[in-house]
Amino acid sequence: MANTNIIAIDGPAGAGKGTLTKKLCEHYGFAGLDTGSLYRAITLCMIEMEQNMDDINLEFAIALTQKLSDTHKILEYAKNPKIRSQLTNKYVASVAKIPEIRTIMRKYQIDFGTNPPDLPDGRKAKGAVIEGRDIGTVICPNAPVKFFITASPETRASRRLKEYLDQGESASYQEVLASIIARDEADRTRATSPMKQADDAIVINTSENSKEQTFEVAKKIIDERLHITFD
Ligand code: C5P
Repeated sequence: MANTNIIAIDGPAGAGKGTLTKKLCEHYGFAGLDTGSLYRAITLCMIEMEQNMDDINLEFAIALTQKLSDTHKILEYAKNPKIRSQLTNKYVASVAKIPEIRTIMRKYQIDFGTNPPDLPDGRKAKGAVIEGRDIGTVICPNAPVKFFITASPETRASRRLKEYLDQGESASYQEVLASIIARDEADRTRATSPMKQADDAIVINTSENSKEQTFEVAKKIIDERLHITFD
């Protein structure tokens, strides 16, 4: 039977979607999909193939995406820590706005939600948490639980800056803030599947929340809507 336990999480960069997804997957025994990592993987692959990222060759980019998706190589690239570098950050929104690329990725994401893969410990997943920008609006419009996770640009920039410094990358707060604001704008204003809060999404602003508080807010809502049994 196709999986109907889908939790859709959308929101801008650095709002805390990834942390929440991880915590929910651990708690409920769900499989998680970070859809941003797919667009990042395509971007990284293009950079490594020395493509001109300021003037993307559409035909090449689309054919590459199809190949990465068909061969599942996209998952290998998605595990490469370089997908989170500042260079990938700079170009990912330009790749993600290409409609043909989104169409290829849409199928991939719907398949994941319908048939979530087994968990790393071999158990069957009881559902899926999918996070991105257009999950509640375009990919899984019928998801029974939708969250839109947000935080102020300043809070998000501080979180990202800490991640860069922890990874040994040098960056300044002003640069990170400018890059976050530019990516928000690009994601929000693109023609195809822009970042948008679904009408039935529950907004959680994580600016003043600890990771635990955000998890507790989300858990309360999920427990009211989904009936997950624990073994
Ligand atoms: O979530 P993350 O910040 O890793 O996403 C990287 C980029 O991928 C976003 O800025 C956006 O351009 C793109 N993205 C998207 N649709 C999604 C997920 C990510 O366009 N569902």
